[in-house]
Amino acid sequence: MPPFSQFDEAGRIRHLITLDGLSCEQVRELLDRAQSYLAPRGSAPIRSHALEGLTIGNIFNEPSTRTRSSFELAGRRLGADVLNLEIQLSSRVKGETVMDTIHTLESMAVDVFVIRDAEPGITQFVAEHVYDHVSVLSAGEAHISHPTQGLLDALTILQYKGGFRDLNIAVVGDVKHSRVARSAYQVFTALGVGELRIVAPTALMPDQDSMPDAKRFNSLEDGIRHCDVVMMLRVQKERMAQAAIPDAHEYHTQWGLTTKRLSLARPDAIVMHPGPMNREVEISSDVADGAQSVIRDQVTNGVAVRMAVLDAVISNRRLRGDRR
Ligand code: ASP
Repeated sequence: MPPFSQFDEAGRIRHLITLDGLSCEQVRELLDRAQSYLAPRGSAPIRSHALEGLTIGNIFNEPSTRTRSSFELAGRRLGADVLNLEIQLSSRVKGETVMDTIHTLESMAVDVFVIRDAEPGITQFVAEHVYDHVSVLSAGEAHISHPTQGLLDALTILQYKGGFRDLNIAVVGDVKHSRVARSAYQVFTALGVGELRIVAPTALMPDQDSMPDAKRFNSLEDGIRHCDVVMMLRVQKERMAQAAIPDAHEYHTQWGLTTKRLSLARPDAIVMHPGPMNREVEISSDVADGAQSVIRDQVTNGVAVRMAVLDAVISNRRLRGDRR
């Protein structure tokens, strides 16, 4: 069997498992497409018939609020049928294998699977075994990848900063356990961001060979100084074997983004967070709800980015002529 590729023979996106390997043009094209799905503030969401007659299967095996709701809305706003499988209530708990579950839903004409799983490799494994016309999109894989989050983060930065080349971006906090940070690194590298910093306590710093082109900072103050974008990350207790960090209060004292600390970044710096936030742990409420926060824009952009990705894989399938 040839090695797995998420691209088809013409280099178009067939599955989206990771942002690694996407060209700057491919990312830009997805961001442009997403932008076209954003309605002016205050007007009704944009709808289209691009996915009419198609079915999206959401299979989430880890908790989710934003990603799951936005994939569901994205599918519906494009005219698709959307099926949400409750894994905890499915036959997976009776011991059915992942692929038997997937093949069952393929028999119900699911065209695109959206998968979140805590086990590394599951999304790719499914992509390797589905029918040729079926696409698989990662909605978050362990600590490894969260491609649509990376895209929505890039879109938010583009809207506020107009480009990437001259920017200093700091990704701050629990970088080690964060799939958001890994996808951010990949998308920012593809887009040629000026300077990318990872800012973390030693216990939450990723291995040296991960994110090799980022500058590393061991102090929040040094790491965010003169930055244009401060991207805060949630402390991921569920991915820590033992308490790798001090208690919440102590963490906030050293690593929480407060208004005072934020003043070290550029005055027009934007503050991002993928959610869910631990308020008064990695970020204070003053900052989360303050004038520099773009956290709600990130959520809005999430729907548009997921519409763009669904639309792209289905357009590419039509170009290939793949049929059910
Ligand atoms: N919601 C994001 C994720 O699923 C970030 C987080 O959970 O901290 O990775």
